[in-house]
Amino acid sequence: MRRNRRVKIVATLGPASSSLEMIEKLFQTGVDVFRINMSHSRPPHDGPRKLHAAIRATEAKFGRPIGILCDLQGPKFRVGDMVGGKVSLIEGATFRFDQTETEGSSTRAFLPHPQIFEAIEPGHDLLLDDGKIRMRVIDKKKGIIDAKVIVAGALGSRKGVSMPDTILPIDALTEKDKIDLDFALRLGVDWVALSFVQRGDDVRDARKIIGNAAAIMSKIEKPSAITDLDDVIAASDGLMVARGDLGVEMPVERVPLLQKLITRKSRAAGKPVVVATQMLESMITSPVPTRAEVSDVATAVFDGADAIMLSAESAVGQYPLEAIGMMNRIAVEVENDPSYDGIVHATQTPPQATGADAIAAATHAVADTLKLSAILCYTSTGSTALRVARERPNLPVIGLSPVLGTARRLSVVWGLHCVLLADPENQADMVRKACRVAYDDGFCKPGEGVVITAGVPLGSPGATNMIRIAFLNEHGAPVAEGV
Ligand code: PEP
Repeated sequence: MRRNRRVKIVATLGPASSSLEMIEKLFQTGVDVFRINMSHSRPPHDGPRKLHAAIRATEAKFGRPIGILCDLQGPKFRVGDMVGGKVSLIEGATFRFDQTETEGSSTRAFLPHPQIFEAIEPGHDLLLDDGKIRMRVIDKKKGIIDAKVIVAGALGSRKGVSMPDTILPIDALTEKDKIDLDFALRLGVDWVALSFVQRGDDVRDARKIIGNAAAIMSKIEKPSAITDLDDVIAASDGLMVARGDLGVEMPVERVPLLQKLITRKSRAAGKPVVVATQMLESMITSPVPTRAEVSDVATAVFDGADAIMLSAESAVGQYPLEAIGMMNRIAVEVENDPSYDGIVHATQTPPQATGADAIAAATHAVADTLKLSAILCYTSTGSTALRVARERPNLPVIGLSPVLGTARRLSVVWGLHCVLLADPENQADMVRKACRVAYDDGFCKPGEGVVITAGVPLGSPGATNMIRIAFLNEHGAPVAEGV
């Protein structure tokens, strides 16, 4: 089975999509990576365990590597209970946050997070209930924050609180995250998404626990992560433009520009970037999206993002399959437009000064010049395939890996079709096997050619140093080799 688009689709699983039958259908309709949101799970984690088993069963049934992205909740702050479940706040009034565990009123609320009292300063904003209510801190004493209500509203029990101006002295992973992470790593997931990353060191701290057991995707949703973006990208394996919380923590009108900035910088670094949240939001309840949503998906595809993501649409919506089908059709339409290549390459940065990038760029040039049908990359850690994908070549890129975990991780990467393949015995075998895959999977017909790249000796990350060209005979075997 092969996709006829380059951008990948990530779908969040939930009550609307948790059965094996549904997961199979979602995969057939176009999902490349399934996201399991740990915000909604507690030990013993029966839900995620079943989802994981269903995804792996789907993978086995269709014989294609499928990625699993485990999204950790991260430090999500909430006020305590409010009297009667909800209170009305008055614009211009002073509102107090304290550490007294009693029901809140229209003048005060319990805030069960001592770290906020430590770090917040007068002048900082507090956003409540997804940014619907805004307050500004006017005074701070031990265990007390006094704030002025700037934008009023009704404050419900346990509503979320964000502090866009405050860098919090919190660990990258909460206690819940650590428990969830331990579970996920034992189960075997391909990507772990870190929520509310503030700085590159948050990612490095998480890596001390995760090691090589999974790749790390940093969700960019905090202003501090934007300030430290280069280092966050450097420390991460992949990035997510988490537009939901980003639009709460920062002025919502900045989200499109930040989306472009994060996409461009991630692409330049050769790290996969996922554009997420509200892409087809109206399809939660409608079988057809708004025209604006279709344009939003198209923009992410034109920006050269690696993947586009559905959240509530596939997790709790009424039309998960229709939403995936729609995303797929928009992507195919955009990628087949004559303007697509030019637009994607206009935002391309030159190769970095490494042997791997030089070989990746040369591979692309060889394929273009000779009008070849596919690029095949031998990749054991995924690094060669990532450098080739970074080039956004306008022909299929096939990743050949002996490591199933690598093939699964690469399922989120732009344009990569990965195939599990034992390492070849020598260079002739390397060319033979690559031609066979290109022929069998329908990427190359007799008489057409492919370009093959690898790091020799195989299995050494970053050592991409070989290019071979081969043309296929009527049996899918190489007839000529060059370079
Ligand atoms: C987001 O905020 O856009 C996001 C993807 O995070 P979550 O869905 O976990 O809130």
